[in-house]
Amino acid sequence: MIDALDRLEGLLVDGGAAHANGKLDVFDPTTGDQIAGIATSTTEDCLAAVEAASQAAGRWAATPPRERAELLRRCYETMMAEQAEIAALLQLENGKPMAEALGEVAYAADFFRWFSEEAVRIRGEIRRSPMGDKHIMVLPEPVGVSVQITPWNFPAAMPVRKIAPALAAGCTTVVKPAPATPLTAYYIADLMARCGTPQGVINLVIPEPPNEATAAMLADRAVRKVSFTGSIAVGKHLLRLAADRVLRTSMELGGNAPFVVLADAEVDVAVEAAIAAKMRNTGATCVAPNRLYVHEQVADDFTEALSARMAGLTIGYDRRPDAQVGPLISTRERAKVAGLVTTAVSGGAKVVTGGRAPDCSGYFYEPTVLADVEPDAPILTQEIFGPVAPLVRFSDEASVVEMANSTNAGLIAYVISGDLGHGLAVGQRLEAGLVALNRGIISDASAPFGGVKESGIGREGGFEGIEEYLERKYVASNW
Ligand code: NAD
Repeated sequence: MIDALDRLEGLLVDGGAAHANGKLDVFDPTTGDQIAGIATSTTEDCLAAVEAASQAAGRWAATPPRERAELLRRCYETMMAEQAEIAALLQLENGKPMAEALGEVAYAADFFRWFSEEAVRIRGEIRRSPMGDKHIMVLPEPVGVSVQITPWNFPAAMPVRKIAPALAAGCTTVVKPAPATPLTAYYIADLMARCGTPQGVINLVIPEPPNEATAAMLADRAVRKVSFTGSIAVGKHLLRLAADRVLRTSMELGGNAPFVVLADAEVDVAVEAAIAAKMRNTGATCVAPNRLYVHEQVADDFTEALSARMAGLTIGYDRRPDAQVGPLISTRERAKVAGLVTTAVSGGAKVVTGGRAPDCSGYFYEPTVLADVEPDAPILTQEIFGPVAPLVRFSDEASVVEMANSTNAGLIAYVISGDLGHGLAVGQRLEAGLVALNRGIISDASAPFGGVKESGIGREGGFEGIEEYLERKYVASNW
């Protein structure tokens, strides 16, 4: 079907043939057609992967940082050389528009590049104790074997954002990609092997359902860390499992992002930021604005301009190459989005544009703007994960800060203001790990990404990202 699938030969299961380990069917959300069937991993396979990672751990930790860096750099360069091929595979199983698929591959590759640069800059420290009786040596050491679990919405970027810092720090890893989009992760594992990653350093498993095998892996004494990106509910479940073994954890969980347009905002700037943030991956991102609070002074202009832009976006029926909007990942996700819109409308919200699932193959939903949404509507309290922008008017800044903070999530908040000082002051009052000021896109391999409150623990990317895979050993010494 596409060249990239040929690389995965051996992994793919014949048509409808049964497989000893079970078979996972992968679908194209643009058409609803089945693309591939892959053999799933048993619990024994997953434990064998942990064993392989454990066997490889000592040698990998002892590999000179420069060698680890050069391997990661080769992965970056190879990924960029194969960008179009990987993007085609990613587009096939995830459905995002081709321009975004290409962008995601570059974003993912950038984590290989960034952490290749970080691998050689891991620093320890020597301090003199205040009493002068000893030297305090603080030595960085790799955490050890990590289990890394990723979601379907960024099939390349989410795995690489975890694999690259782990390998840079000297950790080996077992990666479990999402069942809806496993092919890109397998491609990346194959690419890493071609670039010279030693056997056992990265291991891919796809247990389905994942519960039992994941619990067994986290119970294995060889595992020292779990890193997870996904929903808050699953994150809490994994934290409970991790507690039993006091594992190190990194949690990148769901959000419920407020997008605050202040009275002094320029409407054009607000609309551009809203479109970029809301419509990336057709609204299925953890950082998608979920609640747009707009000051009454600019509300009419903003609603009109945003609705015109949303209505003018090109929907990717039949995989058209200039698509700006893709399908949702499944009929179930689409039904959830449609249900949230229906409930909002019955609560008094007005559909300004969109508001329906078009009659076509593929799991599409029209770009939608809802005005006059009640501040307590369910659509504002759970992740929409679709192309729907619910607008709430406000008049008083103190109350909008309170509304924005009235959630257990705290991943990102957007602030739009024509006055930098004003925007910064409001941003500081918002409970979020990330603030986007006068812009819609924030992701960058060189910046620390992560949430507060129930949106997570730890940071990925930036100087902070490698710390998630390092322990600090204190050696007290007399010289
Ligand atoms: P999900 O939590 O359903 O699944 C994520 C991964 O966890 C998948 O690989 C899934 O198979 C696995 N999983 C589910 N139950 C498990 C269990 N019991 N044991 C082990 N693994 C299990 O999330 P999703 O629907 O794939 O992704 C969407 C969610 O991810 C949203 O909430 C979104 O906000 C969040 N997300 C967060 C970030 C971030 O950086 N904070 C980035 C992307 C997505």
